[in-house]
Amino acid sequence: MYEPYPVPELARDHKNVRYSSLWTFAKQDLRLLIFFLVIAGFIGLGIEQFWICIFIGFLAFFATQMRSLYLVNDWIANRPYDVPPNLHGIWGALLFNVYRSQRQERIVQAEMVGLIDRAQSSLVALAEAVVLIDDNHQIEWWNPAAERLLGIQPLDRGRNILTILRQPAFIEYFHHIDQAPDGLKIKSTVLDEHYVQVKMTRFGGESRLLVAHDMTRMHNLEQMRKDFVDNISHELRTPLTVLSGYIETFTDQEDMNPRWKRAFEQMQSQTRRMNALVNDLLLLSRLENEKTIAKNQIIDMPSLMNQLFDDAHAYNIDYGHTLNLDIDSHCDLIGSDMELASAFSNLITNAIKYTPKGGTITIGWHDDGEHGYFSVQDTGIGIDPKHLPRLTERFYRVDSARSRQTGGTGLGLAIVKHVLMQHNAHLEVESKENSGSTFKAVFPKERLYSL
Ligand code: ADP
Repeated sequence: MYEPYPVPELARDHKNVRYSSLWTFAKQDLRLLIFFLVIAGFIGLGIEQFWICIFIGFLAFFATQMRSLYLVNDWIANRPYDVPPNLHGIWGALLFNVYRSQRQERIVQAEMVGLIDRAQSSLVALAEAVVLIDDNHQIEWWNPAAERLLGIQPLDRGRNILTILRQPAFIEYFHHIDQAPDGLKIKSTVLDEHYVQVKMTRFGGESRLLVAHDMTRMHNLEQMRKDFVDNISHELRTPLTVLSGYIETFTDQEDMNPRWKRAFEQMQSQTRRMNALVNDLLLLSRLENEKTIAKNQIIDMPSLMNQLFDDAHAYNIDYGHTLNLDIDSHCDLIGSDMELASAFSNLITNAIKYTPKGGTITIGWHDDGEHGYFSVQDTGIGIDPKHLPRLTERFYRVDSARSRQTGGTGLGLAIVKHVLMQHNAHLEVESKENSGSTFKAVFPKERLYSL
């Protein structure tokens, strides 16, 4: 525990003395010199050795000055924290000024050390792990929670953090902090079945502050939610298949009463919607649980684009839009064909759905050497910019009634986001209300393949 330095009280009451004026003290020395010279003068006249006695008087004065100098040096060298010796004249003033500034400095120092001590005590008391990492990636300081959560031991001071937290995901995060502003979830190496959320911040150049907290509860809840959605979707699948089978059989019967036929047609459209919802939920859950990077297939882009274009034509029959295909790249994509085809087709069906009849939809694929762009541009209803940040959330709809009317599940863009994430790609949306939108999937260079 920190004990502040004892700060001694001033030896004298200097309140009425103005130490800033050296002349006041020089006068004391001058008076002493005159005193010595007068005494020496009288004695010299008495014994008729005037100049010798004056010289001795000077020597006596010089001796008092040397004594003061000796005391000053002794104090500075041996007892700087003690009260300074009580000296008169210029030496006294000098000593006092040194002592006063030193004392003030020590008060400030004591305050600073106290502040650091308080900050350190509060970090020690934190439930979150805090680790200071220097420019060379070596551990400088950590709190007890870091020992509990991350397994840092007293002997680890000065060790490279990457030799302690060795998970590849952490090493990747350590070198690219800025790419993951929310930090990283890692499995605890100390506690079984525990998960830790790690977040790092750079400071003072290349030093890093690591803060970590136990998020096992959150992780378990999230896992429960995923399992629940996954299970319920699987459970719904079988009854839905049976229902749609029977409904289809009944709907196909020629001799059915027209009132019943309408009811069955509605049942058929609703079961189709439910089927689509269940399929989307299952796909989303698979995408979320599959932590591995997408398969590394080489996807023949011209062929995929043509297939998507043909499918778009089939879907477009009821809408009558003008469809354009614009391929301006010789690159293919590296990834999972099924998942990418499903993501791209979601963007295309959205463009068709959310464009009033007779619009124009352009499906494009191009690259600029650094990135590959799959884009879908429409002349549709557009989206108010305030909705854009939340668009890829599950079940987020700009206009719920309209989305339901068009048979949307509200999961399309969430699926697109996950598929793109698995391909290190991201979605960019530009849109203007009542003018149209452009959805662009942007792929990094590593995902492009060219002969
Ligand atoms: P949905 O199944 O409802 O279409 P999505 O996740 O595919 O769900 O899309 C989310 C919402 O984004 C939609 O409900 C719609 O409001 C809006 N949206 C998506 N694509 C477009 C588009 N091309 N033009 C206008 N709005 C769109």
